[in-house]
Amino acid sequence: MLNEKLHSYIEGLISERNPLLTEMENYASVHHVPIMELSGIETMLQLLRIHRSDRILEVGTAIGYSALRMANALPHAHIVTIERDLERIEAAEQFIQRSEHSHQITLIKGDALEVEDIVKEHALFDAIFIDAAKGQYKKFFEMYAKYLKDDGMIITDNVLFKGLVAEQEIETKRIRNLVKKIDEFNHWLMSHPDYDSVILPVGDGVAISKRRGERK
Ligand code: SAM
Repeated sequence: MLNEKLHSYIEGLISERNPLLTEMENYASVHHVPIMELSGIETMLQLLRIHRSDRILEVGTAIGYSALRMANALPHAHIVTIERDLERIEAAEQFIQRSEHSHQITLIKGDALEVEDIVKEHALFDAIFIDAAKGQYKKFFEMYAKYLKDDGMIITDNVLFKGLVAEQEIETKRIRNLVKKIDEFNHWLMSHPDYDSVILPVGDGVAISKRRGERK
């Protein structure tokens, strides 16, 4: 979201990841697996450290990159992560097994909108990270916010969707519909009575929502 020069400058200052994570970044690039952008993930990890999140729910594992980044950054945390794509599940399982963090990660296989009963066995969560089908963000949020601790935080990626949320004219109908859904989600989120939210223009746009305290 910053100009290219500053963006490259900041990314150039971020330390190299370990060999397994670097291999995963290359795998994602070669196999066109979308993983969270570097500046977005670094921002999220820093927030999770400050928040001292111990139990984290992730919606959208892909190949396990962000789950392993979280496990690496938060050695005491447990991450419950959901993925429905079989090929990605297989890749994630292999990468997680090869890491030193497999004991910190529980992978739930299935559609996030159909595995609530399994997820709730692992609740409550300090943080929930939503990074799956963009058109379903509101559904994921509403389904899993019930399992967030009172002082918990929800992080949602891709809320600026390559800047397209601010564009008036979008030619492709499918993209136009998706942008409309993300825009509706952003408006809904920013006026939600139970959460204070902010949208950070890092990575692909990251929304941070903090519960306003005790539930009614
Ligand atoms: N969080 C990952 C990372 O940064 O390493 C990237 C996740 S990728 C952007 C989104 C993933 O969510 C895809 O692998 C997709 O198959 C999965 N996904 C999308 N909708 C889903 C759903 N309803 N239930 C489970 N997984 C879903």
